[in-house]
Amino acid sequence: MGTPKGTTHDLAALNDLTDEIILEELHIRYIQDIIYTYIGDILVSVNPYKTLNIYGDEIGSRYVDMEAVKQLRPHIYALGTRAYLTLQRKNVNQCFLVSGESGAGKTECTKMLIAQIVRMSQIHAGHTGHSDLEDKLLEVNPLLEAFGNAQTVINDNSSRFGKLIEIIFSPNGRIVGGQVTEHMLEKSRVVRHGVGEKNFHIFYCMFAGLSQPEHKRFFLDHPDKYRIVSDGLGSSVFSSKAEYDRHTDSFQNLQRILPVIGFTPQDIDIMFAIVSAVLHLCNIELVEEPESGQVVILNEEEVDFGERVVSLKSVHQATDGRDALAKALYGRLFSWVVQQVNFALHVDVELENRSELTSKVGILDMAGFENFPENSFEQLCINVANEQLQNFFNEHIFNMELQECEAEGIKHPKIQFSNNAALLLLFFQRPVGLFTLLDEECKLAKTTDLTFVEKLNKQFSKSDLYKKARHKDPVFTIVHYAGEVVYSAIGFIEKNRDTLSSNMQSLMENSRNELVNELFMSKVSDTGSLERRGERHSQYTHPQWQDPPKRHFGPGDSLSRQAGRKLKKKMKSQEVVDIGVTANPNTACAHFRNSLQYLVDMLSRGEPNFVRCLRPNSYKAPNGFDSNMVMRQLKYTGVLETTRIRRMGFTTRLPFQVFLDRYKFLAFPLVAEVSATPDTCQMIIDRANIQTAQIGKTKVFLKYWHTDQLNSQLDHM
Ligand code: ATP
Ligand code: MG
Repeated sequence: MGTPKGTTHDLAALNDLTDEIILEELHIRYIQDIIYTYIGDILVSVNPYKTLNIYGDEIGSRYVDMEAVKQLRPHIYALGTRAYLTLQRKNVNQCFLVSGESGAGKTECTKMLIAQIVRMSQIHAGHTGHSDLEDKLLEVNPLLEAFGNAQTVINDNSSRFGKLIEIIFSPNGRIVGGQVTEHMLEKSRVVRHGVGEKNFHIFYCMFAGLSQPEHKRFFLDHPDKYRIVSDGLGSSVFSSKAEYDRHTDSFQNLQRILPVIGFTPQDIDIMFAIVSAVLHLCNIELVEEPESGQVVILNEEEVDFGERVVSLKSVHQATDGRDALAKALYGRLFSWVVQQVNFALHVDVELENRSELTSKVGILDMAGFENFPENSFEQLCINVANEQLQNFFNEHIFNMELQECEAEGIKHPKIQFSNNAALLLLFFQRPVGLFTLLDEECKLAKTTDLTFVEKLNKQFSKSDLYKKARHKDPVFTIVHYAGEVVYSAIGFIEKNRDTLSSNMQSLMENSRNELVNELFMSKVSDTGSLERRGERHSQYTHPQWQDPPKRHFGPGDSLSRQAGRKLKKKMKSQEVVDIGVTANPNTACAHFRNSLQYLVDMLSRGEPNFVRCLRPNSYKAPNGFDSNMVMRQLKYTGVLETTRIRRMGFTTRLPFQVFLDRYKFLAFPLVAEVSATPDTCQMIIDRANIQTAQIGKTKVFLKYWHTDQLNSQLDHM
C-alpha cells in the first residue's frame, strides 16, 4: 500500500512522477487547505484566496530550526528559517526568487518571508520586541503597495513594479539595515487604465481617507469628477460602501506607517499635494480654438489655483505633454518614496565602515506574467522580465546541475526542459533584438508604431517565437514560455521615448514647490531610480540625502560574484543570454535592460532559494481549483522536470576542502591533519552513512537532504 494521496509533503519523494500525479497531489492538499508543498528544497505555494490560520508569531516561532522544519508541514516560514540559518552557518548571502503569474501570491509570500526572517533574527540574536529598524522593514511592503499596486482584472492588489528587498545582518545575526531597489513602475497607469481596472491605490485611499478640510486644502472635489480614477463608463468611483471602507482603512494604515518609516508631517503633506496635482493635471482638457487655431484649456477651473504654462503646438502634442508630465511627476514621487525608505533602512555608519562583516538576504518580487485582452508595452516588459527570471531558474536548476556533473564525471539523469534562451535573444540581441530595433525607431524621425511593426515582421519572419498579424494593424504575437500573447504596438514609440519636453523639464526644475523641484533636479540613475544631482538640498529632503546610502556587499558577494563569472564562462553562449547594459540609457527599453541586468546580477551573487506560486483559478475565489489552469502553470514552469531533477540530481556540490572543513569531525579526531582527497571525503560519507552521494574530480555531490543529515549528525556530536 502506498502513502495516502495528498500526504506527501515533498513531491520529490513520490514513487511515480507524472504531471497528472503532481496535479492530483496538489489538488488534494489544496482542498484540505494545505497550500504549501516542497519539491526538494523548492517551495510550491497555491493561492488559497482566503485567510488561513497558519500565520503569525506563534506559528512562525515553531519553525525555529531545521529539526522543527523537518517535523512540521511545508511552509513559507520554513524557507525564511532555512535561509536565515544558512546565512548564519555558511555566511553566504541568500536570495529568494518568488515567481508565478499575476495573482499567484508572490507579494503575500514576500511579506511572510520578511516577517519570518525578522522573527528568526529576534529569536537568534536574543532580543525581544521589534527594534525600530525591524518595524520599518515590516512596513515597507504596505507602503510601497499603496503607491505601486493597483487593481487589475487578474488581481485586486497587483504589483505594478518589481522590487528587490535586501535585509542586511551583522555577524551575530541581528538585522542592521535594508535596501529596496525598484524596477519599472508602470507609470502609464497614472493616465490610462483598462476597463475593469483601477489606478494606483493611493488615489482612492486619499479620497476615502482625507478629511473634508484636507480635501479643500488639496482642491479636491468629488472623486467621480476625476478622469484618471473614473472607469470611463459613468459608474461611481467607489462601487460599494465596502470598497470605500477598505480604502479608508488603507489610508489610516498608511498614515500610521508613514511616520514609522520616517516621513515628516511636511513630507506627507507634500506627497498628498503632488498626488492631488496629478489628479488635477490629468483633468485638464485641451481644445483648439476655431478662430485662432491655438490650443487652449477648456476647463480653466482645474488650473485656476496654479500657474499656467501650457503653450504647445497641437491638441495632440499638448495632451501628450500633459500626460508625460503626470507620469513623470508620479514616477518621480514613487522613486522618492523608495529613496526615503532606503534612508530609513540605511545601515548605521559604524557598521557600514566594517561592511565586510555584514551579510544579507535578498527577496525579489516582480509583477507576474500577464495576458490581458489588450496588451501593450508595459505587458511586454513585465513578460520579458518573467522570461528572464524563468531563464535564471532554468540555469540554476537544470543547466548548472547538468554541466557541472559532466565536468566532474558524475552520472546524471537525462532531463529535458524547455529552454527560453532563444526568446530572450529575440529581445536583447544586438543589433537586431526587438528592444534594439525599438530604440533605433525612436531615434529616427517620421517613424510610427506601424513602421516599427513592419520592421519586426521583416526581422523575425523566420522565428517560431514571433507571429505577424494577418491584417495590417500594428499588432504582433510573441510565443512566451507561459503562452502566446498578442501585443498592440500602439503607443510603443512614445512610451519608449518616455521624455518630457525641455520646457516641461525646466518648468519643474524651477517649481516653487520644493519637493517637485527636487524630484526634477535629481538625475534618474542608469537603472531608472532617482539619484540626486548637484549640492542643493531643501527642507523636504532628509539630511542624509547628501550622502546617499551605498550598496552593501557582504563577504559571500565577492566569492559568489567570482563563482558567477566562472559559471557564465563555462556555460555555452546560447544558454546564458547577456542582456547587455546601456551606458547612457535614455529610453524606457534601455532602463529596462539595465534594471533587469542589475536584478539578475544581484540574484547571481547569492545562494538562490526558489518559491513557485500557482494561481488556482481565474475568479479570485477560495476553494476553486481549476485543474486545467494549474496544469498549464505546472507545464510551463517545468514543475515535473524540476521534481525529477530534485529527486535524482545533486543540489549541493562542495569542493573537497570545504567538505572536509565542515564535516571532518564526523570521521576524524579533532586534531588530525587530513588532506583533501576523494578517499578522505569518501570516509566521511561512509561514516555518516550517506547512501547516494557521489565523489567527483574535485567536489563532493550531495542530494538536498544530505546536508541536513550531515549537519544534524554534527549537532549531535
Ligand atoms: P501580481 O503579479 O499581480 O503582483 P502576486 O503574485 O503578487 O500578483 P498577490 O498580490 O500576492 O499576487 O496575491 C493576490 C491576492 O491573493 C492577495 O491580495 C490575497 O487576497 C490572495 N492571497 C495570496 N496569497 C495568499 C495567502 N497566503 N493567504 C491568503 N490570501 C492570499
Ligand atoms: Mg505582487
